Amino acid sequence: MRTSDEKTSLKDLSRFRADIKTFFDKWKAASCIPGENVFPIEFLKALREVGALEALLSQDEGGLDLCRLPEGGLVLLTLLRRTGYVSLSLGRCLEGHVNVVRLVELYGTAEQRCAFALRLRGGILAGIWVTDGVPPVTIRQENGGYRLAGSKGFASGIRQVSLALITATTSQGHSIMLLVPTTEADRRRPGPGALMGMQASGTGAYDFTDVMISPDHILGSSGDYLRQPEFSAGAWRGSAVALGGMDRLIDLFRQELVERGRAENLHQLCRIGEALILQKTAAMWVEQAAKAAYSTRMSSEEVVATVNLARLAVERAALELITLVQRGLGLSAFVKGKAVELVMRDLMTYLRQPAPDETLTDAARWFVNHDWPEESL
Ligand SMILES: Cc1cc2nc3c(=O)[nH]c(=O)nc-3n(C[C@H](O)[C@H](O)[C@H](O)COP(=O)(O)OP(=O)(O)OC[C@H]3O[C@@H](n4cnc5c(N)ncnc54)[C@H](O)[C@@H]3O)c2cc1C
Repeated sequence: MRTSDEKTSLKDLSRFRADIKTFFDKWKAASCIPGENVFPIEFLKALREVGALEALLSQDEGGLDLCRLPEGGLVLLTLLRRTGYVSLSLGRCLEGHVNVVRLVELYGTAEQRCAFALRLRGGILAGIWVTDGVPPVTIRQENGGYRLAGSKGFASGIRQVSLALITATTSQGHSIMLLVPTTEADRRRPGPGALMGMQASGTGAYDFTDVMISPDHILGSSGDYLRQPEFSAGAWRGSAVALGGMDRLIDLFRQELVERGRAENLHQLCRIGEALILQKTAAMWVEQAAKAAYSTRMSSEEVVATVNLARLAVERAALELITLVQRGLGLSAFVKGKAVELVMRDLMTYLRQPAPDETLTDAARWFVNHDWPEESL
C-alpha cells in the first residue's frame, strides 16, 4: 500500500512528465534545434524554467526525487532522451549534472546535501570531471586544508559549469571525490584537441594546480567514486541521451526520404523498418537498464552486468543506425553542416565511453554462471 505522501508525489511526477512532454513537443515543433559550435544556453535556460533541474532533487529538498524513486527514474529517462533529441551536447552536460546530484545524495553529509541543494535551486549547472589531464589531479594536506595540483582533461561545459565533482589522488594513492568551484576563467584550457563532434558541449580542460580547499569539499570516503553498483549503473543515463540522438536521426532520415520522394522504394522501406527495430531495441535496453539501476531487489552484480550490456547494445544499435542512414541518404548525409550530418558526428563522438571491452567481458563473466535477473525486474 502506498502512503498518501507517496500518492501525492506520484501525482506531481505525472504532472511533471506531462509538462516536459509539452515543453519538448514545442521545441520540436518550432525546430529550435541548437547549432553546432555554440553551447545551447537558451535550451538550458528553458529546461531550468520548466523545473527540470530542480525536479532532480529529493522531495525533502523541494524536488521530485527523479534520482531516487523508481517512478522518478522513468521520468528522468524521458527527460534525458528528449534532451538528447534536441542536443546531444546538452544531454551530455545534463547527464553529468544528474550524476553529481546522485553522488551528493549518496555520499554527502547532511550539510553538504543541504548546501548543494541550495546552489542547485539557485540555478547552477554542476559537472562531473573525472577524466584526468596531464598531469592528473592530486591532493595533499597543507596547513589544515588541502592543495590540489594537475588538471582534468575532458571537462564538459567548461564555461557553464560552476561546481564540479572531481576525483583526486592522495599521496597514499587513494582516489577521493571533491566538490570544487570552477569559475576561474584563467584555469580553463582548450583540452586535448578539437573533437569531431559534440563541439557545443564546450568540452575542454581545467587546471586545478594550487587550488586550496577545506575538508568540507571532500565528498564521501576514499574509493566511494568506484563503489558498485553506482559506478557502472549510472551509465544508463548516458545511453538514454544517446537514444534521444537515435530518435532524432530516424526522424531526419524518414523526413529526407519523404522530401526526396524515395520513402516508398522497397529498399528504403527495408532500411526504415530496420532503423525502427534498432530504435525500439535500444529503447527496451535503456528502460531495462534504468529499472535495474533503481532496483532494490537485484544484487549489485546483476545491476552492473545488466547496465553494462545495455550500454553496449545501445552503442551497437546507434552505430548500425548511422550506417543505415548513410547508405539510405547517400552523399547527402555527408554534406557538412546539415542536421543529419551533425547529429551523426555528435552521436559517433558521444558513443565513445570508457573501457567498452572491459564492460562487455565483465558482464559476460557474470552471466557465465547466472541467468537473466528478469524476476527481479
Ligand atoms: C564530448 C565528450 C565530453 C566528455 N565530457 C567529460 C566530462 O565532462 N567529464 C569526464 O570526466 N569525462 C568526459 N569525457 C570523457 C569520457 O567520459 C570518456 O572518458 C572518454 O570518452 C573515453 O573514451 P575512449 O574511447 O578514449 O575510452 P577508452 O577507455 O580509452 O577506450 C578506448 C579503447 O581502448 C580500450 N581500453 C581501455 N582501457 C584499456 C587498457 N587499459 N588496455 C588496453 N585497452 C584499453 C577500450 O576497450 C577501447 O577499445 C567526455 C568525452 C566526450 C567525447
